[in-house]
Amino acid sequence: MNSPIYVTQPYLPPLDEFIPYLEKIWENKILTNGGPFHTQLEQALCEYLGVKHLALFSNGTIALVTALQALRVTGEVITTPYSFVATAHSLLWNGIKPVFVDVDPDTLNLDPAKIEAAITPQTTAIMPVHCYGHPCDVDAIQKIADNYNLRVIYDAAHAFGVKSHCGSVLNHGDLSVLSFHATKVFNTFEGGAIICPDAKTKLRIDQLKNFGFVDEVTVVAPGINGKMSEINAAFGMLQLKHIDHALAQRKRIDSTYRQLIEGIKGIRCLPNAGEHTSNFSYFPILVEADYPLSRDALYQKLKENNIFARRYFYPLITDFPMYRGLPSAHRENLPAATAAAQKVLCLPIYPALSPADQQRIVDLIREN
Ligand SMILES: *Cc1c(COP(=O)(O)O)cnc(C)c1O
Repeated sequence: MNSPIYVTQPYLPPLDEFIPYLEKIWENKILTNGGPFHTQLEQALCEYLGVKHLALFSNGTIALVTALQALRVTGEVITTPYSFVATAHSLLWNGIKPVFVDVDPDTLNLDPAKIEAAITPQTTAIMPVHCYGHPCDVDAIQKIADNYNLRVIYDAAHAFGVKSHCGSVLNHGDLSVLSFHATKVFNTFEGGAIICPDAKTKLRIDQLKNFGFVDEVTVVAPGINGKMSEINAAFGMLQLKHIDHALAQRKRIDSTYRQLIEGIKGIRCLPNAGEHTSNFSYFPILVEADYPLSRDALYQKLKENNIFARRYFYPLITDFPMYRGLPSAHRENLPAATAAAQKVLCLPIYPALSPADQQRIVDLIREN
């Protein structure tokens, strides 16, 4: 039996390259609370991503919860059912009612044409997701937000380094939130960040992630502990040195999959967002009705061959018990998301995936 292949494998630079970073931490004796590596990583990421201000967090979920707090979002928020469950959970943690709107069947991002009908007097914001790192229709979403005076908070957990027609996609909306979880393109073991448009917003977010402290004796808000530690930030600095190489490898694997899969009846790849507009973080395929096996049978078959593809995103967020009672969670309201959740399978993609393994995965899909 071949050794197991998972949908992703964290990118780990050579261990000896990390030792000097650890020595520095031991020398400084600063372990957290905005130490030197934390400051360095915030600056380095702003430069790399092409954004003005960025606040690091302990993980992406706490960053989402804090982003909503920072903008004082209340009432109802329009969001997508086709995402990782943390997107909607961040709303519930703020006492906000999620209102689910269907996705565009081609991009699997929130469908801007369906947003307006879901707006009520209680709506205060839109929380879209750049699904698989594919940019949302940011202009259409902003236009609706401007017309109805709504905030836009992007769950950009998949969108590290993704660009749109006018630079980083992370500059759109009021705030964008990244995740640096081990499974993501750029990881700090656990981690995340909020992209802020101005220094004042960053200051407020920095206070909120540190219990609301402004100075030793002043607390201005019921903040949380969302701080990134020095060890995570140091790892991020090292990871950043290797990111372009890692992204190039992903891009190569993405094009190889597209060539190999071409012509397999019943298997459809999502359109590539384009050379510079993707980070190749996922490789979703859609198993259509004219494929000889069901999606789940293909998933099982790969599993029996030690290949652990993942059904991202199945079940839909709206199928989980804390959401399924909401009127907007009904399947009739979400036909495109419901269909995608039944068809999608994310194939393994990570820098160390070998061409031979990639061929073996596609051979197993083709031979049915
Ligand atoms: C990973 C992910 C999150 C959560 O990020 P964590 O850093 O794991 O807390 C939120 N939303 C989406 C879409 C994600 O993929």
